[in-house]
Parts: sequence; C-alpha cells; structure tokens
Amino acid sequence: MLLETNAVLAMDAGITKLFHTSNNQRIENPRFFERTQKRLARAQRKVSRRKKFSKRWKKACILVAKIHQLIANQRKDFLHKLSTQIIRQFGRIAIEDLNVKGLAKGMLSKQVLDASWSMLFNFLDYKAERAGRIIIRVDPNGTSQTCICGNTVKKKLKDRIHQCGLCGLVADRDFVSALVIEQRAFHTTETNLTRRVVTLDSLNNTNHYPSGVKTECSRLVSA
Ligand SMILES: [Zn+2]
Repeated sequence: MLLETNAVLAMDAGITKLFHTSNNQRIENPRFFERTQKRLARAQRKVSRRKKFSKRWKKACILVAKIHQLIANQRKDFLHKLSTQIIRQFGRIAIEDLNVKGLAKGMLSKQVLDASWSMLFNFLDYKAERAGRIIIRVDPNGTSQTCICGNTVKKKLKDRIHQCGLCGLVADRDFVSALVIEQRAFHTTETNLTRRVVTLDSLNNTNHYPSGVKTECSRLVSA
C-alpha cells in the first residue's frame, strides 16, 4: 500500500530531453540508450557491407535483431522504474494528451522519444489505477506560448528561456510549460505556482523568480 499524498506533478514532453517536470526537474533519456544506439548503428553497417544472404550477412542480421531487443528491454525497464517512482511520490499527475500533440515529424530521435512517452503514459495509467492516484490528460496546445499569469509569451523553438513581459517571470521554457500543464489539469492557482518557482529559484539561480529546496523528484533524474 502506498501512502496517501496530494502532491502534484506535471510533465512536459520535450525534444532534447524526455520530460521537464513542474517541480523543475529534467528527466533525461538514460545514457545507456545512446551507447546501445551506437552499437546498433555499427551492427547495421556490418549488415550493409556484407554480401546479401551469405553466412556472415545472416550472422550480422541476427546481431541487429538482438540489439533491437536489448534496446526495447532497456527502455521498458527504465520506464517501469520511472513510473513506479512517480506513482509512489505523487497523488495527482498531469500529462499531455499525445493524440492531440501531433508528434513525430520523421526524425529518428523523435520517434524514439514518442515511443518512450506513450509507453510511460501507459505504465502510469495502470499503476495509477491500482494505487488510486489521479492522472489528468490536458490539451497541450499552446502550453509553450503561455505564462502562468495567463499572458501570451510567443517563443520560437530555439528560444529556450521564457520571459514574461507582464509578470516578469524568467525561467526555462519547458519548466514553464510543465507549470501551465499543471495549471490546466488541476487549476493550481498562479500564486501557488509562483511560490514554487520562487522556491526553486534560490537553489540553482537560473530562474528569475528566486528559489530553493531540492525536491523529492530529484531522485527521478538519477534513475
Ligand atoms: Zn507572466
């Protein structure tokens, strides 16, 4: 049995990282994914160099299949651990409705991320149901162009920092998106969120509203 908790977490699915959370944690794809991807690329080159249907070619094909399987297992394992940790620590979780987000524009890394996102969300769904946690899916439209004060803050993809001319909030854009997702899901008040940004800010000094306490979620990052 899990302890009851009202703690809230919102997750913004990213392009260069897996997620940014509403308590300002980056969740990266684990390093070993990269290493295995490199092994896969090497094995695939072998296949293409060898004579089709030869013995050595078949051997190389088997290796490629094995590495694909390894990647799938590693990802599943990582996402199981991650989802279990999230469900343990948070009672209310906000995620994006990926059907609406319209992802995957053909880039390989993006496809890999997409697969990880939907797998994680599936794991979260059934674990939340078992544990009595609440998961809310929100429309992700415009979350990166909005401030928690309600002001529209236009950003291009390359603009990594959110700077609101109305309330003065300066912070990582994905962090702000996660806060907006949380706001949409749980109607968290602006003051509530502002306080969180302030708390986080004194810790790492990267955000303009000052900052603080290392959250329990930091363990998620090292997972
Ligand atoms: Zn603002």
